[in-house]
Amino acid sequence: MSDTIERIKCLIIGSGPAGYTAAIYAARADLKPVMYTGMQMGGQLTTTTEVDNFPGYPNGTDGTAMMEDLKNQAERFGTEVRFGMATKIDFSSEVGGIHKVTIDETIQIEAETLIISTGATAKYLGLESEQRLIGGGVSACATCDGFFYKGQDVVVVGAGDTAAEEATYLSNICNKVTLLVRKDYMRASKAMQHRVAKTNNIEVKYNTEIDEVLGSNVVEGVRAVNNQTGEKEVIDVTGVFIAIGHKPNTDIFKGALDMDETGYLITKGKSTKTNIPGVFAAGDVQDKEYRQAVTAAGTGCMAALDAERYLGSLE
Ligand SMILES: Cc1cc2nc3c(=O)[nH]c(=O)nc-3n(C[C@H](O)[C@H](O)[C@H](O)COP(=O)(O)OP(=O)(O)OC[C@H]3O[C@@H](n4cnc5c(N)ncnc54)[C@H](O)[C@@H]3O)c2cc1C
Repeated sequence: MSDTIERIKCLIIGSGPAGYTAAIYAARADLKPVMYTGMQMGGQLTTTTEVDNFPGYPNGTDGTAMMEDLKNQAERFGTEVRFGMATKIDFSSEVGGIHKVTIDETIQIEAETLIISTGATAKYLGLESEQRLIGGGVSACATCDGFFYKGQDVVVVGAGDTAAEEATYLSNICNKVTLLVRKDYMRASKAMQHRVAKTNNIEVKYNTEIDEVLGSNVVEGVRAVNNQTGEKEVIDVTGVFIAIGHKPNTDIFKGALDMDETGYLITKGKSTKTNIPGVFAAGDVQDKEYRQAVTAAGTGCMAALDAERYLGSLE
């Protein structure tokens, strides 16, 4: 552990759209923010080439380039962007208390305010062919990528509400949606199952799993297997949407911050306030509903404003 302890006004952890937007606002409010980027500098959008729905880019943009723009904008106002992972926390529950965060097990930061924007990680099946074709037809976000498969045939994998929602969303854009459900029933709410059942261009295949995603550079189909009979079939599709859930990156906050049963941070009312005074949460880490870059950026702005007002209230 390093001997030096750094005291700062505003610490931001996570460098996705939420973190960088918080940084822009916090820096312009003179909170002199320091950001630790985590292992995935730029966040989830750096794993996609095409971002078509972020306002301000009429011709779309590349995810990595967009995050570089956001970083440059945050740095322009004085945000100090550092590479490192928050590995341990020790929060004060007092109003005006100091929050201690350890970075990479060695660096000690003491922060008057903390903005958590550590995002969420989409779960995948783990097949080699699936991992290879992420960005080439395999996606974990129908709202983000569905448009690219307009009029085409796709499969959705999953059995919960998210899978049912993704399937119905895609059914409005695509020619045909095949929903692959591993068990012989769906976990989605009855209402969502009903929506799926009454949508003509969704076919549900139960007891069915993906054996392999087919294609070398882009998806050309999937080989599916019936886990009861062992029977295999090729389904010709150009898009594969994996909808088996997300894991919020909140392990280090367990026991300190209020979370829901799946680990998403709980914020108060319409604010970004957590149960600890001076600790705020923005982006996908506190949002299992929308999970979009623009909503993450919006709550990043809110977190910086909440932090600035919190500090103001202490004076
Ligand atoms: C393939 C793909 C394509 C997408 N396409 C679109 C799209 O076209 N349009 C759209 O609006 N949305 C899209 N999304 C969704 C969008 O990427 C997310 O909603 C958005 O990135 C969430 O932003 P965030 O800032 O909350 O977190 P994230 O982008 O998830 O960033 C989290 C950050 O936290 C950091 N971190 C995690 N743990 C720690 C830690 N302990 N210490 C320090 N840092 C940490 C990570 O390194 C990362 O920088 C897509 C998602 C994926 C996966």
